[in-house]
Amino acid sequence: MSDRRFFVGGNFKMNGDKASLDVIINNLNTVDSPNDVVVAPPSPYLSYVASKLTSNVKVSAQNCYKVAKGAYTGEISPAMLCDLGISWVILGHSERRHVFNEKDELIGQKVKHALQSGLNIIPCIGEKLDEREAGVTEQIVFEQMKHIKDNVEDWSRVVIAYEPVWAIGTGKTATPAQAQEVHEKLRKWLADNVSNEVAQSTRIIYGGSVNSGNCKELAQGKDIDGFLVGGASLKPDFLEIVKANA
Ligand code: PEP
Repeated sequence: MSDRRFFVGGNFKMNGDKASLDVIINNLNTVDSPNDVVVAPPSPYLSYVASKLTSNVKVSAQNCYKVAKGAYTGEISPAMLCDLGISWVILGHSERRHVFNEKDELIGQKVKHALQSGLNIIPCIGEKLDEREAGVTEQIVFEQMKHIKDNVEDWSRVVIAYEPVWAIGTGKTATPAQAQEVHEKLRKWLADNVSNEVAQSTRIIYGGSVNSGNCKELAQGKDIDGFLVGGASLKPDFLEIVKANA
């Protein structure tokens, strides 16, 4: 078993209101786990959620911009997140890449600025279905990794999320073998392109239709260090996923 601490993130996406978040927060306040647990509510609710969490669960933003301030209507900056006491941010989620057309270059710039601003980051990578079927999964995720790597100096504040696009919100989970295969290759890529130490210490988490029924088997993969959970993070089941490695 690795000594990488198991990490479970919950991405609420654009869901929730104060009443439904209160239910989720009450549930999260019962979490008693040695694992890292981080939830990402929509940005208007970041402070609300952070102020009501009494457990050790941390709060993350779902995105942020590449500069500290300025004429960027609608964006939020890492400096603002730090000001609110928010310590994590998800970057390059597949919905940012494919709905909002964010490219690797921009995600790399965000990675750099978020780290320089003091945040911990969860950069997301993953292939689309046609890319998997064309046999270019490795090529795609390695290229995405390169843009992240070129902008990271401190790997201790990075948790990589491998999220095959075809598995996100579709109910089609990667099999434990499919997930482990890519995670192992990503770890080797880190060893070859950064260092063996970074490869051994960096958490690589899986995302894509993880739920209470499939999490335990997925968690057995030796290179699977946790999960990024979308839909199921809004449900009481999330607590089962938090302890999938127990
Ligand atoms: C996600 O939003 O990162 C995600 C993996 O979603 P879901 O668990 O719903 O597939």
